[in-house]
Amino acid sequence: MEKYEYLFAGNGLSGLTLAYDIISNPLLSGRLLMVDRRQKNRNDRTWGFWHHGTTVFNDIVYRKWKDLIFAGPRSFHHIHLQDFSYQVIRGIDLYNFLALKLKASGRVDFLNAPITAIREGKDCAVLCSGENEYTGKWLFNSTNMNFQGHEQKHKKPPLYLQFNGWTIKPDKPVNTDCLTFMDFRTPQKRGVRFFYMVPYKPDRLLIEYTAFLAPKKLYKDHKSPMERYIKDVMGIESFEILEEERGCLPLFTSIKKRRQGSRVLCIGNAAGHLKATTGYSFKRIQEDSLNIVRSLVEYKHPFRIPGPSRFYSFVDRVMVLVMTRFGHTIHRIFDLLFKKNSVNRILNFLDETASLPECLEIMQSLPAHYFYRAIFSEMGFMGKK
Ligand SMILES: Cc1cc2nc3c(=O)[nH]c(=O)nc-3n(C[C@H](O)[C@H](O)[C@H](O)COP(=O)(O)OP(=O)(O)OC[C@H]3O[C@@H](n4cnc5c(N)ncnc54)[C@H](O)[C@@H]3O)c2cc1C
Repeated sequence: MEKYEYLFAGNGLSGLTLAYDIISNPLLSGRLLMVDRRQKNRNDRTWGFWHHGTTVFNDIVYRKWKDLIFAGPRSFHHIHLQDFSYQVIRGIDLYNFLALKLKASGRVDFLNAPITAIREGKDCAVLCSGENEYTGKWLFNSTNMNFQGHEQKHKKPPLYLQFNGWTIKPDKPVNTDCLTFMDFRTPQKRGVRFFYMVPYKPDRLLIEYTAFLAPKKLYKDHKSPMERYIKDVMGIESFEILEEERGCLPLFTSIKKRRQGSRVLCIGNAAGHLKATTGYSFKRIQEDSLNIVRSLVEYKHPFRIPGPSRFYSFVDRVMVLVMTRFGHTIHRIFDLLFKKNSVNRILNFLDETASLPECLEIMQSLPAHYFYRAIFSEMGFMGKK
């Protein structure tokens, strides 16, 4: 039984990023084992995020935009990103880029197999795959696998982020100057539904039908709203689907317990990094990865890392209540948000880096009655919808 310094249950975004940050730090030594049931050889997702400055992924950014579009049934905003740019990275490019770096280090073994258990042994963490057991000093878990077979008692998520994306080749060239951040010109059906459109090239664009929905309201048909949007709103008569991606991600607003036993730490979405009100986690995962490495270097263990902000967790909880109860009004809230605030202020707020005065200005710009009604109805003071 080979002993590793670091075991990774799952080598998606968070596992690969953390492994890369570990091997890039000269103060951290030892071998790594990365286990995943899937081979990362498919472009299964496209990461979009707003950022100022550069990231370690600068060389693989597929495209960047300085201008975004927000459209509602009766509103339209052309948003020029002041300090930020909106960047897009293709899943396959990131998997290849990081796997190459990890293999070149000579310190990383990859295993393509299902993980069947995660537990603790004597002075080590144990990762099981069928009959095989692997031991390591620390284990980073980005799967939903339960620690030592304990059923995790998660509350049901109040909302899911459900989306279907098509990369299409349209019959006529499209304008690629602006990325459509949110376009609400689609029936809301008492949920939050919008389109996200990434125009990579005049003849290649990603269109995503995105919805924040309560568990019982998940949609079954994405084809008809997508075809309608492409034809009626975008004016594209015919197109070829080149690639597809999809997701149905649970959005939790409770703060997750990340530490499992004395040697296992949850990372990525399994650690609660998917922000419930935006569905973005890319940058949070990068930041968390650097914090874990800092803890390993300074404290010789991975657990001394900042927890989520209680203030923003509360804001997220309230926003999720509004989305569950008054989802069909969200486009009006966004319209006001963009009308009354600078884009820097909005993006800092969504990044949870806004100052207190900035937060107050954001809150003052929004219709308070939705928020009060959502909180009161949750507390049982008003009839539930
Ligand atoms: C299609 C899609 C598009 C997205 N777009 C964006 C975006 O634009 N911006 C953004 O910020 N976020 C986006 N996200 C959300 C988030 O960034 C991604 O979900 C991200 O991949 C999360 O990283 P992770 O490491 O937590 O999970 P993953 O990348 O999903 O990695 C978990 C890994 O664990 C493996 N695994 C699970 N169970 C087992 C098991 N039992 N045995 C072995 N292996 C196992 C899986 O195969 C997977 O590879 C998107 C998500 C999806 C699905």
